[in-house]
Amino acid sequence: MRQKWEVLMNGKQPEGGDWNFDASNRKKLPKGIVLPVPHVFAHDLQALVKEIEEASVETIGKVDASQFEWPLDRTESLELLDVFCAELLPHFGDFQDAMTPGGWSLYHSRISFALNCKMLTPLEVIQRVENEYRTRKDEIDISQAEGFIRQILGWREYVRGIYWARMPEYAQQNFFDHQRALPEWFWTGDTKMACLSDAIGQSLEHAYAHHIQRLMLTGNFALLLGSHPDAVDAWYLGIYMDAIQWVEMPNARGMSQFADGGVMATKPYVSSANYIHKMSDHCRSCRYDPKVKTGPDACPFNALYWDFFDRNAAVLRKNPRIGMAYRNLDRMDPTQRASLFEHADWIRSNIDRL
Ligand SMILES: Cc1cc2nc3c(=O)[nH]c(=O)nc-3n(C[C@H](O)[C@H](O)[C@H](O)COP(=O)(O)OP(=O)(O)OC[C@H]3O[C@@H](n4cnc5c(N)ncnc54)[C@H](O)[C@@H]3O)c2cc1C
Repeated sequence: MRQKWEVLMNGKQPEGGDWNFDASNRKKLPKGIVLPVPHVFAHDLQALVKEIEEASVETIGKVDASQFEWPLDRTESLELLDVFCAELLPHFGDFQDAMTPGGWSLYHSRISFALNCKMLTPLEVIQRVENEYRTRKDEIDISQAEGFIRQILGWREYVRGIYWARMPEYAQQNFFDHQRALPEWFWTGDTKMACLSDAIGQSLEHAYAHHIQRLMLTGNFALLLGSHPDAVDAWYLGIYMDAIQWVEMPNARGMSQFADGGVMATKPYVSSANYIHKMSDHCRSCRYDPKVKTGPDACPFNALYWDFFDRNAAVLRKNPRIGMAYRNLDRMDPTQRASLFEHADWIRSNIDRL
């Protein structure tokens, strides 16, 4: 795609000498960093919201109808893109995967809604960002520009391709035969798990969470729990401002739930508390301890993580990308294994009280 559209290319060579600079990206937020203030709009949509309520349309989350935050036309969408380029792009890649309490959009662009509603075109965004990089090289490193452009030229187009190549069968996929409902607190954010409470809370309030919150917090938890992909799809389709089925479904059902058995991703995106602790500072204020695996203080991600691999060994053990998890599971002391699985059972039975 880079070659085809002549994006970040120097003749036949990729700009900066490489195709991907992720090795220098994806840092944790430094202590004491002053976070950028999200650029929001303030539309008065009270009349529209009243109409929706009067028609008894079922909704989730809260909307501040007198100060609706999202861009509603092309001019505002371009304004959001301007703010992104001026203030956020220089650190986009650095903190792309970082999470912190209350930092609801960090260095992300929040242009997905504008793109999906065609108020912006993907190519104009890509060319704009490339141009910003080429004219502000002292400020914007290649790793930031390449990382951002890859999200649109790479991921977004890939997702679109999967949807149109695989639908309508894709909507029925349930590789692990997961059957559970989502926890009640997916609709309230009312859980003692700090990371999930924060991610769900902000989703209900702003109709937005960034990619890692969607993938490695809510999506990860839903998958480890064994939630039905239909329930997961419905939740993601209902909660996010940018949710349109062609882009939501391959991300939610495919990338995050692995319900397509590996069409979209080569391995399930799951993690224990370790990853969340590494990429965020949620664990510091959490009632649960990321280092504890069983017992009342244990972070629920831990037991569910090992239980997931054990439960799905028949279909996952041979996957070369996850050999390490099975080697660790095999090496584990049998008593520790048994108590992990017992704790996972306890979590499932007490899911709405976590
Ligand atoms: C479970 C799950 C559900 C998702 N549902 C949606 C959805 O309904 N609609 C949607 O637009 N995106 C969805 N995404 C992809 C991604 O999380 C959002 O596009 C992104 O968080 C939007 O915020 P942003 O504009 O600030 O993105 P930035 O981080 O600033 O990235 C820039 C742009 O890259 C594009 N992009 C990045 N990652 C992806 C991706 N995986 N798929 C498609 N485009 C991508 C988006 O257009 C985005 O605006 C989902 C991801 C997951 C894991």
